[in-house]
Amino acid sequence: MQFTEIIKASGIVGSGGAGFPTHVKLSVKAEYFIVNAAECEPLLEVDKYLIRERAKELIRGIDWIARNIRAAKKYIAIKKKYETEIRCLKQAIEEAKSTVKIFEMESFYPAGDEQVIVYEITGRVVPERNIPLQVGAVVNNVGTVLAVYDAKRQGVSVTHKYLSVVGAVKNRVILRVPIGTSVSACIEEAAPLEKDYGIIMGGPMMGKIYSSKEEASEAVVTKTDGNILIVPKDHHLITKGIQSIRRIKNISKSACIQCRMCTDLCPREVLGHSVKPHLIMRNIYREEQMANDDEYIKTFGSAVNCTECGLCELYSCPMMLSPRRANSYIKSRLTQMKLTIPQNPLKPVDSERAYKKVPTSKLMLRLGLQTYYSHESLEHVVTFTPQRVKIPMKQHIGVSSQPIVQVGDRVEEGQLIAQIPEAALGANSHASINGCIAEVGDYIVIEAQE
Ligand code: SF4
Ligand code: SF4
Repeated sequence: MQFTEIIKASGIVGSGGAGFPTHVKLSVKAEYFIVNAAECEPLLEVDKYLIRERAKELIRGIDWIARNIRAAKKYIAIKKKYETEIRCLKQAIEEAKSTVKIFEMESFYPAGDEQVIVYEITGRVVPERNIPLQVGAVVNNVGTVLAVYDAKRQGVSVTHKYLSVVGAVKNRVILRVPIGTSVSACIEEAAPLEKDYGIIMGGPMMGKIYSSKEEASEAVVTKTDGNILIVPKDHHLITKGIQSIRRIKNISKSACIQCRMCTDLCPREVLGHSVKPHLIMRNIYREEQMANDDEYIKTFGSAVNCTECGLCELYSCPMMLSPRRANSYIKSRLTQMKLTIPQNPLKPVDSERAYKKVPTSKLMLRLGLQTYYSHESLEHVVTFTPQRVKIPMKQHIGVSSQPIVQVGDRVEEGQLIAQIPEAALGANSHASINGCIAEVGDYIVIEAQE
């Protein structure tokens, strides 16, 4: 099979973020191939673990991908404070006689924003709402490269996920579980400190919030998950994250002091994109009364360039307001109103950018998460196989996978159970345990058999 056919067959999507299908992302030619190992949100552990355990495979995977996309320049971007992981990578590069270079980054947020990484390495700025390929680069993360390597070496499909469970728990832990495992079962392994708690799927800055364990009772592990953060129910990350948009509108009208800190520290605005959260906060209270579309676009259009990194909301704003949520709401309104926002020409990169990088240590203090930080790396992986998995047909950008199994069919781990519809953007899905198909719909449920 050809390079992209192997990846497509294995159902690989970006192992973080929105889950872009990897066979499409890698069906290009590029000058740079960059691996994002920055692990930029506080408290995440999985990429570091994978680097310590699988540095050789990672380097071989990078070399293979770079050869296929004709990338002469190959980099791993990693924070320089991850000394053990850098040592492992250097040794693996030497042993493989590889030309992969390690790019050591400062510890700031969002060091792992792929456009930030591309700028740091190449000095090139990706235009607004564009992808790194526009400036000759392709970026993958650690888990994705290892999935590609496993597909090539062993024909293995994506059936399992590594994820850390951290925060207000007795045992910080790394798990390896089948796709479709219930999130509640994963949390139990870490033994939460309190009876009820808030759950953030992902990192504290950009993760999806569940305000209680009941709310997360139906949630399952998908191909893009890598971390579960447990915090007390009344932690500000939870209470702020679930505020209604009506309340956000009212508060912004009375409490926004128009200091512009949200805009001035915005990592994309600093790179030269147009992102103006202060303008949105000044006007959001009257958004439903805007005179016409032109005024709406002029006032709110910059919301489309917001990546929802959360920095304005959880760090920059001295009044503890919610410009990120405001941007997110306006984006959905622009889609609803079918308004097209013109692309702005790039401005020069802010000359004070170096001073506007927010150190992760300060961010952690502001987030109120320092009590959950540990200097100890997680070395031990807990593996378990549940009796039942519920595999979503949409775990990626594009259209849902089409089931090719029926209720009552017996399946084995790794067997194709749903495929990409003809000529569509999507990803294949595979059985993650041996068992019998119990339900077919938006999810395929497999029950293990005696
Ligand atoms: S940082 Fe806060 S107070 Fe200042 S302009 Fe932005 S939303 Fe308003
Ligand atoms: S969330 Fe805030 S800081 Fe982040 S990109 Fe959007 S406006 Fe900028």
